[in-house]
Amino acid sequence: MKLVFKFGGTSLANGQRIKHAAKLVMNHLAENKIVTVCSAMGDTTDNLIDALEAAVSGDEEKTNDILTQISNIHIDAIKDAVSLDSAREIVYSEISNNLERLRQVLNSVYFLREATPRTRDYVLSFGERMSTRIMWGALTSLGVEAKYLEGGEAGIVTDSSFGEADPIMDITVKEVRERINDLLNKNITPVVTGFIAVSIDGAITTLGRGGSDYTATLIAYSINADEVWLWSDVDGLMTADPRIVKNAKVIPEISFEEAMEMALFGAKGLHPRALEPACQGKIKVRIKNTLNPSAPGTLVSETAKGFDSVVKAVLIVKEVAMITLKGSSVAGKAGTAGRILSELGKLGVNLMMISQSVSESALSFIVRRRLSSTVINKLEKEFVQTGILKEVECEPDVVVVAVVGEGMRGTPGVASRVFGAVAKRGINIRMIAQGSSELNISFVVKEKDGVEAVNAVHEEYGLGDKN
Ligand code: ADP
Ligand code: ASP
Ligand code: MG
Repeated sequence: MKLVFKFGGTSLANGQRIKHAAKLVMNHLAENKIVTVCSAMGDTTDNLIDALEAAVSGDEEKTNDILTQISNIHIDAIKDAVSLDSAREIVYSEISNNLERLRQVLNSVYFLREATPRTRDYVLSFGERMSTRIMWGALTSLGVEAKYLEGGEAGIVTDSSFGEADPIMDITVKEVRERINDLLNKNITPVVTGFIAVSIDGAITTLGRGGSDYTATLIAYSINADEVWLWSDVDGLMTADPRIVKNAKVIPEISFEEAMEMALFGAKGLHPRALEPACQGKIKVRIKNTLNPSAPGTLVSETAKGFDSVVKAVLIVKEVAMITLKGSSVAGKAGTAGRILSELGKLGVNLMMISQSVSESALSFIVRRRLSSTVINKLEKEFVQTGILKEVECEPDVVVVAVVGEGMRGTPGVASRVFGAVAKRGINIRMIAQGSSELNISFVVKEKDGVEAVNAVHEEYGLGDKN
């Protein structure tokens, strides 16, 4: 079979783990052709963001400390993962160059006190470039003939929306197909940096957080692979985040529609668009655990046999804020809500949930918390000062709980059962919305009640392991 293996950050957290991941690739090479896609090691992407922010704010010491930390993690990993001398020399020299280049860029940012989105993508790209180089060295040390490719070299071409670039599909499919198939036909294993790509004019872009999943499915779609295996640190996609629901259970099979809905609400940090190419190409996706590789994991496919529950999973989205607009014109005058929403669209703000209450003449919506002050300033200026709205209110300490499942479609009473379970615990629901697909019901509660609300619904539907 033709497979794409993508290893997440935890699966590559240190040299031993990288070596282990390389062995997993090697073990499956006997019967398959495999494209390997790597995320950055552990928390490297977060560390790079912190270093960049420290440089922008002029904190030289912090920038240097983080750089040293990043450098140590990668140099240590080379020692543990790459045993062949000739490969180690190459990897060591490449990583040293990368680290030096990164130091220079951060230095410029420090002097300028400014990082454009383009600079930011360039800085973030170092994580995947270094981890993938070490994976190449680990595979080479195991005797696998491998070739290192950056996302752009593999053929992934995007527009220039830095931070969350959009692949230009016709070019990407053609280029990836040619370049990757050429290697596979020669029995060479491509090792590709996840998350990063290249714009038409040659700048490095990124596909957004969690983007390595997207790299994997884009490649799979382009070469018409049989399956994509997303290797992570959990046994599969689960009925809830195992960090907050103790008896959360692995979902053995799930449809693309449901899994995409789960990804939208942040399940397993899956890139929200990662499943699109797989769904389009009818390519099966397996989510598996590197630390427990014999477990079957989760299979996402077109023909998934679901289990008998109306509700499949309960998810929580943190770092959001609820904004409420008040004033008679919100409900009364046709077009006001539309105008407000289109103003926010122009700001590039994504509204994660919207709900209108006619009786109270109020419109509420959910945005990422870090964008809330931008949104409020805009609304105050354009709509409150001009008298169109009476008031704009912001509740920053809320979370969204999303209940997902195909069985909810056409099953009456799901909402009342969900809200009943939450109310029984004395939790106040601040806002409610149902997706038009009827694949989810989501509601907003105070942040302090979030974990309990998730557990209430999870228990109500008996989703967890019984013992
Ligand atoms: P990777 O590095 O493999 O891409 P991520 O860190 O992006 O992995 O995602 C894995 C983590 O997602 C798990 O450790 C788990 O805590 C969390 N998670 C949140 N929701 C879910 C869910 N519904 N199913 C499985 N894992 C989840
Ligand atoms: N390293 C990137 C991130 O942390 C991409 C990924 O891991 O998928 O978001
Ligand atoms: Mg991830």
